[in-house]
Amino acid sequence: MDGLVVRGCERCPQLVESRSRIVNGVGPEDADLVFLGEAPGANEDERGEPFVGRSGSILDDALRDAGLDRTDVRITNCVRCRPPDNRDPMREELANCRGYLERELDLVDPALVVTLGKVPSEHLLDRSVAVTKEAGDVVDVRLGERSYRVVVSVHPAATLYDGSQRETFFETIAHAADLAGVSASDSGQANLGDF
Ligand code: URA
Repeated sequence: MDGLVVRGCERCPQLVESRSRIVNGVGPEDADLVFLGEAPGANEDERGEPFVGRSGSILDDALRDAGLDRTDVRITNCVRCRPPDNRDPMREELANCRGYLERELDLVDPALVVTLGKVPSEHLLDRSVAVTKEAGDVVDVRLGERSYRVVVSVHPAATLYDGSQRETFFETIAHAADLAGVSASDSGQANLGDF
């Protein structure tokens, strides 16, 4: 790993086969807010950027609603290569990519991490997570030597299949922006201690 960029990893044979490129995280290297997805899909694999397909437009909309632009936040995935047929990443693939994620979070040092969906939520919380029920919950998570404040969220794609999840998703993102002290209504003085 070169700073925040992983180059030329070949730890997961099936992913090396299915990917066209490694999709690294994007956004400020000192972002207060980090969004964590599962793994790149076809659009992400093609463009080399996380969340640029339909899920990405929903995330962009929710960020805009919270007064943010996607360039204000960091967006990354648990696994950096597209799994074949968009299957979930396997346990071993998550484990192979874990060190890259821990290093990225350590370097970025965000105030808050938002886990987008079940896979990233369970990966960080290390337990089974009912994302719809737990959406918006704030949990302190220990990763390696460090601890991070995490907000659980449904995946943006869930809003496509179930309209009621749209409100949940948008509210969670606005709540996360508030907690991280980056929402449009903040004077810039807010910090986690204010909440
Ligand atoms: N879904 C994810 O979990 N990650 C992406 O990058 C795109 C869609």
